[in-house]
Amino acid sequence: MMAEKSIFKKIIDREIPATIVYEDDLCLAFEDINPQAPVHVIVIPKKEIASADDVAEEDEALVGHLMVAIREMAAKLGIAGGYRVVTNCGPAAGQEVMHLHFHLLGGRGFSWPPG
Ligand code: 5GP
Repeated sequence: MMAEKSIFKKIIDREIPATIVYEDDLCLAFEDINPQAPVHVIVIPKKEIASADDVAEEDEALVGHLMVAIREMAAKLGIAGGYRVVTNCGPAAGQEVMHLHFHLLGGRGFSWPPG
């Protein structure tokens, strides 16, 4: 059990607003409040998983589902063939919200390595 609802759980529960771009039984996707690219969508499982470190074997199908949803969203948003998918795990990697999420970024070029 998590001590306190994360911001993303509050978005799932419609306690705070977000611009939702996709939703199904297992996942939700919404525009990032501080976009780092012309397309910047946050994709989350509705299940409360804190980070990539907390993905369990029983979550295999769920995480695969998120990737299929990301591919469909990329196509719908017009960025198929040129986008980046990122998950930050833990504070050293810049994770601020402790609810597993994938950043879907597109609409511009990206350099490598990331900062
Ligand atoms: P992290 O740094 O944890 O990988 O990414 C968290 C992301 O969530 C950031 O890009 C940040 O802009 C976004 N974010 C934080 N709070 C909110 C919010 O209340 N609404 C939305 N739509 N995005 C948020």
